[in-house]
Amino acid sequence: MKFFYDLHIHSDLSPCGEKEMTPNNIVNMAKLKGLDIIAVTDHNTTANHPAIQRVASYSGMHVIPGLEITSKEDVHLLAYFRQFSDARIIGDIIYANLPDIKNNTRIFGEQNIYDENDHVIGSLDKLLINATTFSIAEIIQMVKDRNGIVIPAHVEKKAYGIIGVLGFIPPDYGFRYVEVHNRLYANKFLDSYKKVFSSDAHRLSDISEPVNYLECNGYEDFLQQLKL
Ligand SMILES: [Zn+2]
Ligand SMILES: [Zn+2]
Repeated sequence: MKFFYDLHIHSDLSPCGEKEMTPNNIVNMAKLKGLDIIAVTDHNTTANHPAIQRVASYSGMHVIPGLEITSKEDVHLLAYFRQFSDARIIGDIIYANLPDIKNNTRIFGEQNIYDENDHVIGSLDKLLINATTFSIAEIIQMVKDRNGIVIPAHVEKKAYGIIGVLGFIPPDYGFRYVEVHNRLYANKFLDSYKKVFSSDAHRLSDISEPVNYLECNGYEDFLQQLKL
């Protein structure tokens, strides 16, 4: 069967995420769109995952714990985990190693943490858009040590995409999947990888339509295909 996914969605916690990106709004919109599996991958934190997971569990939506990490090379890497406990440990390490630069709420708005009723229960002070002190190779290793996988995000983008930044994908990173933003993008460096397409939604209307899917026999099989 087809499992429709969107594995790259930002909540209001991300500096660039719209205020409307609350746990209930995200899950309900994903449901309306006919998706089966989502991941909310905020920049350098997993703090909104518990609320999203709880909301999703009421409606039968699957949520993969994850985050979008900015490496010290300024490359965006999506990290996914089976267990939230692992995702949280990595998220906490990454956040602790962001530069001590405060979020300017007048530019980016609050970086809000929500509960399952969409009430704001806290916020994060450090600007989440900045780069951590870890290299791509270090991030891959630390995610692997927590049974996670790394998928480089929007690889072709000039800003923060691995091909855009490095000019190529070093084969020793051992990626299995890469996320391509533009479906029409072609590059010989992509030939040896499987591709995933997600929305990178920062507003509700941008969450994917049911067009991207993996053919699989359920959630467990979906995770296994990702090598999670
Ligand atoms: Zn990104
Ligand atoms: Zn993103």
